[in-house]
Amino acid sequence: MTRAEIIRHFNSDNSAELFAEADRVRLEYCGEAVHLRGLIEFSNVCARDCWYCGLRRSNRQIERYQMAPAEILAAARAAHQLGYKSIVLQSGENDCYPLGDLTSLIAEIKQDTDLAVTLSIGEKTAAQYAALKAAGADRYLLRFETSSEKIYQALKPDSSLKERLRCLSILRDAGFQVGSGIMVGLPGQSVETLAEDILLLEQLDLDMIGIGPFIANPLTPLKDAASGTLAMTLKTVALLRIITKNTHIPATTAMGSIDPQGRQKALSCGANVLMPNVTPTRHRQHYQLYPGKICLNDAPEDCLFCVEGMARSLGREIGKDQGHSYKIKGVKGAGRPG
Ligand code: SAH
Repeated sequence: MTRAEIIRHFNSDNSAELFAEADRVRLEYCGEAVHLRGLIEFSNVCARDCWYCGLRRSNRQIERYQMAPAEILAAARAAHQLGYKSIVLQSGENDCYPLGDLTSLIAEIKQDTDLAVTLSIGEKTAAQYAALKAAGADRYLLRFETSSEKIYQALKPDSSLKERLRCLSILRDAGFQVGSGIMVGLPGQSVETLAEDILLLEQLDLDMIGIGPFIANPLTPLKDAASGTLAMTLKTVALLRIITKNTHIPATTAMGSIDPQGRQKALSCGANVLMPNVTPTRHRQHYQLYPGKICLNDAPEDCLFCVEGMARSLGREIGKDQGHSYKIKGVKGAGRPG
């Protein structure tokens, strides 16, 4: 799809055909299975100062926490007990955990369970990424957030787009299944920059693509900015499904936070993954990247029952295996070999 065609879809008032086509492509390349990834938000400590994020280091109004490795392991085991085949360990970007603690934790999880382990812990060195992979981590999520140098510089002052993209290439070379993504509706974004975001996501040939609306957070400098809309977010999901075919695309928590039906709608226009929260309840209120985040008072089992019901109500089944990349398995579509 060309840049002009993408822009035309973004400017169109009627997305019914686009969504139907995305749903058809999803069925052809990914099937009916909705894959679950249990999300463990293990620390909100962050050294970065991203303008959009509630965990930014300048935000003194949140209580910081770090789950001990034993507590993270217990949360992973609990997720496994509930039937999860895949977990995501996510945190702010920090150096609070010595590398050896993280690698031991991953090795223990892999020894005790058959969980696929995804990391979402930000920018690290090539040596650190290699050690995490060697310990058994399977996947890594690192959104580049925006392909516009200008917006990136304005909103992520501690790093650069170039460095973020370099990390993605190192992660790929290290053997991870790699996920990236963007926020829709960031200040300064336009349909033109959004089209560039989509073309970059296509070019990166990712295993997973995570898309969410930007949600203005009152505890950040962007408190008065307009948030992204579900309509634009759904169009982005649908376009990425049609363009990238067999990529794993989650119906993200942020979509469910701006609209009670947000995740269901995303599953109906291209998404094939859900990421229910399995963080112990007492930590959840402290991991608010944005306001209005759902499930803050729920327990891990509540979130599982909720998303199982969601999939069932759409006539979809829950994926029974770890839901590895379709590109690696070469199931269908233009995946990489091996
Ligand atoms: N520290 C890790 C994990 C980040 S949190 C990293 O840098 O990769 C996961 C994602 O939440 C971010 O990549 C960002 O896209 C999203 N996010 C942060 N603040 C947000 C906000 N205000 N609204 C919507 N999404 C937000």
